[in-house]
Order: sequence, then structure tokens, then C-alpha cells
Amino acid sequence: MILDLLLRFWRIEMKFYSILLIFALSYSYSLASPLIKDDLPLAKPCDQKKCELPDCRCSSSEIPGGLSRDKTPQFVFLTFDDAIRSDNYQLYVDAFYGRKKNPDGCNVSATLFVSHDYTIYPKLHDLYENGFEVALHSITHDPNTTKWQQASVAELTDEFDGQRQIINKFAKIPNSDIHGMRVPFLQLSGNNSFEVIKQMGLEYDCSWPSRSYVDPGLWPYTLDYKSHQDCPIGPCPTASLPGVWVVPMLDLFDQKKVPCAMVDQCTNIPSDAANITEWIIQNFNTNYKNNKAPFGFYVHATWLSIKKEHNEAYKKFIDYLQSLPDVYIVGIHRALEWVKNPVPIGSPDWPACPTVTKSACEDIFCTYTREDESEILMHICADAGCPDKFPTPGNPLGN
Ligand code: ZN
Repeated sequence: MILDLLLRFWRIEMKFYSILLIFALSYSYSLASPLIKDDLPLAKPCDQKKCELPDCRCSSSEIPGGLSRDKTPQFVFLTFDDAIRSDNYQLYVDAFYGRKKNPDGCNVSATLFVSHDYTIYPKLHDLYENGFEVALHSITHDPNTTKWQQASVAELTDEFDGQRQIINKFAKIPNSDIHGMRVPFLQLSGNNSFEVIKQMGLEYDCSWPSRSYVDPGLWPYTLDYKSHQDCPIGPCPTASLPGVWVVPMLDLFDQKKVPCAMVDQCTNIPSDAANITEWIIQNFNTNYKNNKAPFGFYVHATWLSIKKEHNEAYKKFIDYLQSLPDVYIVGIHRALEWVKNPVPIGSPDWPACPTVTKSACEDIFCTYTREDESEILMHICADAGCPDKFPTPGNPLGN
């Protein structure tokens, strides 16, 4: 029954992305426009002389540090959104555990944008200890997209800082290892989505698609100065927000050349596994054969489970990536570490492998009755202890 409910949520999410796509195609992509007024200073055109790494980078397709293509690593971001449950946990384990390492000898990684309801925190703890990057995707994942579009900084703080507190306490993951966020439905709320990153001391957002700057692709950049990225799902930021990193979601294109930010949206794709892999590789080559901007394959676990060919193609694609000597499958934060201090492949200054301090997490569950009388379980690391109430944005620790 929960599975039916979750499948329904996923379909709502996919339907929403399709509506956005139609909107984006009919009205064409506009540049950032301020729908929400606030008193932050308006960003000025980027001045390359003043905006320098490691803290500042203009929105640009230039390879960081002016490196040549052959000395530049090709980073690949494999990400998954929403709750971590038993079924998708198993898919992640099957696809990633026991893989050979990246060319630098570090473990491969993927980034999980985690929302609260139905997440089994001990499973998240296990994925974290096995090298996955954990990032934020709100507490409620409220299906009302207008709420996200109009969200204030305070509301976003309740949702995202709240989710960080929940993950920290109930999955025992240090705040210092949580760096990024993605808003539900990729629905930005202008400056507020990025102001919250600054106030929370996070590093990056990965919710902002680009259709116009995919070939050559935009590299991640900061919001100190005005971004020239197209804005498919506005409102996009207009203010100067120093040090906040944008990791653009470069659209993929399906076989009818329809753009898709989330892979689940790519409807015109082959049906057999070998050709699906081939289709993913074609998209990957847009980046790899050009300026090596990080390639993102952004998907929900449901896409892997809904057809066995998808799952097979996904794993074959990872196998293919691992056959290339300059491809690094990493969490987003690790790639940003490199972007801030770009060094050629093989350099002695290459960033050291990420480490994790392991701790025990025994799975227990707590039971709650919600306002609509439905029952909900919460699986947590035992030593956190069941909170009195089911966590919510105003009361994330359920006191
Ligand atoms: Zn989501």
C-alpha cells in the first residue's frame, strides 16, 4: 500500500515535470526574472578579475583554472531524490557497492537528496558509511508546487535545516558532511532558495536546469555576480549571494530531441537495455567530448525499478564510465572541491579521498498517528531514541 502511494507521488512529480516542460517549450526560456521582491543587493555583471577561485567563479563554460581538456577530469554526478526505503536501498547497493575505484583510488559515489517521510534512517546511515553523499530535499516534499515557488527564507529554513537536524540525529550523519540541497520539483523561489543556503552554511544547490548551456556545458559557479544561465523553472535568483555555488542541471535530450532535466522525464528513449545505455552514452559524450563540464544523470529510484531494462542499462553505463581513464564518479561536493582548486589529473595536489568516521546504528522503529488518523513508522538509529512526536518542519526533532 505504501508502495502504491509512493508510486502515485512519483507519478505526480513526473506529471509536474512534464507540465513544466510544456511551459518551458511554449514560452521559451527566459533569463532570470524577479517575481519575488526582496532587499538583497542586485547582482552585477561578472568581473573575472575580481571573481577568482576558490571562493568565486563567474557563470561560464570555461574549464576551471584554464586547464586543457586532456588534463581535466570528467566528473559524473549520479543522483537520486526522495525517501530512502528498503526497495530503493537495495537498488543502490546493487548498483554501487563493491565497484572498482575511481582513477584516483577513491571510492565511487552518488548523491542522495533525501526527504523525510518514509525514509529508513539506518539504511541512509549505511549508504553514507559506504561513500554516498547525503544532501537535503526538504522534510515534507509538499506536493503543492506553489508553496515552493513562494516559499520564504524562514519556511525554507524550517524544511531544509529541519531535515538536516533530522538526518544528523536519527541517521547519525555529521552536519559537516551535508553540503547541498535540491528543492522538490526543482521549483526555485528566486533569491530565497539561495539565501537559505548562505544562512545555513551549506555549499551548493542542484535544482536549476539549463537547456541553453549544455554544449559546451556550464561548469558550477557562484552567485557573487549575475548569472547568465537560462531559467526554465523560475523565479531564478537575481541578487548577489557571495560564495553560494550553483551546480547547473544540464538537460539531457531524448531521441526526439526533447530536453529533460530529470531522466524520468525523458520519454522518447529506446526500450532495450543495450540501446538505452547507448542513448545515455550519447548524452554523456556531449560533455565528455567537449569541455568536460560535469555530467549529471539525475533520476528517481522508481525509474530503475519500473523496467528491468532501465536498471540493466544504468549499471552498464556505470561499467562503461569505469572503463575510461579520466572519468570520476563522485558526490557533488567532491567535484566542487576540485573546481575550487583545479589541478591537472595526476597532480600531487589532487584532493585526498573523503573519509567517514564509522559509528554503530541499530535499526529500531517508532510508530505515530498523523492528523488524518493514518499511521506512520519512522526507522531510526536506536541510540537517538524515539522522539515524542513525528518530526515536522516546526519541530524536526519531534520534542
Ligand atoms: Zn523529489
